[in-house]
Amino acid sequence: MLRGSCNCGAVRFTVKDGGRSVTACHCGQCRKQSGHHWASGYAPDRNFHIEGDPRWYHTSPVAKRGFCGVCGCFLFWKAHAEDGMSFSLGAIDGPTGLRLQKHIFTAFKGDYYDIADNVPQRED
Ligand SMILES: [Zn+2]
Ligand SMILES: [Zn+2]
Repeated sequence: MLRGSCNCGAVRFTVKDGGRSVTACHCGQCRKQSGHHWASGYAPDRNFHIEGDPRWYHTSPVAKRGFCGVCGCFLFWKAHAEDGMSFSLGAIDGPTGLRLQKHIFTAFKGDYYDIADNVPQRED
């Protein structure tokens, strides 16, 4: 079981059976919202539980982004068509036991850093 929270604790979440699809997203929206690339895990809805009342920003017709309305921490990304939730790995309290599996949207990464690990990369 993974447990996550925002900085102020108003929004908390739990992930049963850990997370999968561990990615670092370099797209412009993730970079704006997180301040850098966004590292996330993914869990099916049945394994994912939110406590508190995050605010949701509808980024596009296909997805929304969830954050704490008090402290502003970016926590969730949800595609309307998927029965699952992506969650911020940086918000996990304690060890995650996970490893990054891929970099995505690398074509949109910032020019101020290099991706210097051996994790597979996808441009889009
Ligand atoms: Zn908060
Ligand atoms: Zn992204």
